[in-house]
Amino acid sequence: MSTVYNFCAGPAMLPAPVLAKAQQELLDWQGLGVSVMEVSHRGAPFIELATQSEKDLRALMNIPDNYKVLFMHGGGRGQFAAVVNNFLGDNGRALYLLSGQWSTSAAEEAVRLVGEDAIDTLNIVEKVDGLNNVVLPSLQGDAGQYRYVHYCPNETVDGIEIFDTLDSSWPIVADMSSTIMSREIDVSKFAVIYAGAQKNIGPSGLTLVIVREDMLALPVVHPSSIMDYRIAAAKDSMFNTPPTFAWYLAAEVFKWLLNAGGVAAMEKTNIAKAELLYHCIDSLPFYKNGVATENRSRMNVTFQLADESLDKAFLKEAEAQGLVALKGHRIVGGMRASIYNAMPLEGVQKLVEFMTAFAAKNS
Ligand code: PMP
Repeated sequence: MSTVYNFCAGPAMLPAPVLAKAQQELLDWQGLGVSVMEVSHRGAPFIELATQSEKDLRALMNIPDNYKVLFMHGGGRGQFAAVVNNFLGDNGRALYLLSGQWSTSAAEEAVRLVGEDAIDTLNIVEKVDGLNNVVLPSLQGDAGQYRYVHYCPNETVDGIEIFDTLDSSWPIVADMSSTIMSREIDVSKFAVIYAGAQKNIGPSGLTLVIVREDMLALPVVHPSSIMDYRIAAAKDSMFNTPPTFAWYLAAEVFKWLLNAGGVAAMEKTNIAKAELLYHCIDSLPFYKNGVATENRSRMNVTFQLADESLDKAFLKEAEAQGLVALKGHRIVGGMRASIYNAMPLEGVQKLVEFMTAFAAKNS
């Protein structure tokens, strides 16, 4: 089989060695004669996996001791609701910063649950010279005004990433679904970080939540037990049956990341990959990207062909060369190359070669 480079935004490609190991262990995990999918989540082998995976994640992200790590269900959208249910007790209010599709969806879910009056929104993207540019406000005010400020450091659909740390006197809740572990961050600057697993962590079905302990003392509205952070924390993410196979794969991804030099090493490669691709886009008039340089996503590189009637041919010819899932999100169109941690530099090099040749042929 020839090499396929998968640029899907999520579920995204997983590291090949992780999949190979999973394949090898599928029928016999740890000499038990059965797969990891078929054992109790309360038995010693799985508990050991769970404990080690948390340890590895804490090491990878340098998570301080006063944070709980929760392995939950429901994906990013599950957390859109869980955050509201966990923190906006009676009369609690929150501020949502809007920078693209996913932060807007998070705000819409919050409004759906607690009503417009409890949710303030602030658009933080401005067009400068036709490019999307993020302007981060300094958010200072009365402690009682907002229970939290929510934002999305990487907008998967729009290809907009916010690298600066948000300055806020209110607790910061961040949807890191598509940027987690792609670069080093200071966890202590956040009250809550959540991420659906299907980009940089593992397969869909698992959702990570990293929550500062003091947040768990806030009033509760009426979260369903399954989405209650306090219950998840008290039960070590085993209140009910967790998505065990997804957790197992995530645990293997954490080991792979540690072996590869951790998040700092990933960041270095991710910068190189993104620079290579954006350089190709910028140097050929055949392609364009609509995001200001400092807010260009390192994980989701969006670009348009100058002549969109060539979109179909671009996708077809790319696929024939093993470069798959480059179609942009249906809402914004164009192309999108998602280049998460598992995408090797060679994949981006191959894409750039293809893009250069396609532009030369069709210009
Ligand atoms: N937030 C972000 C930043 C995302 O990219 C996505 C999915 N692509 C979601 C939330 C929604 O995640 P899910 O499909 O797991 O609910």
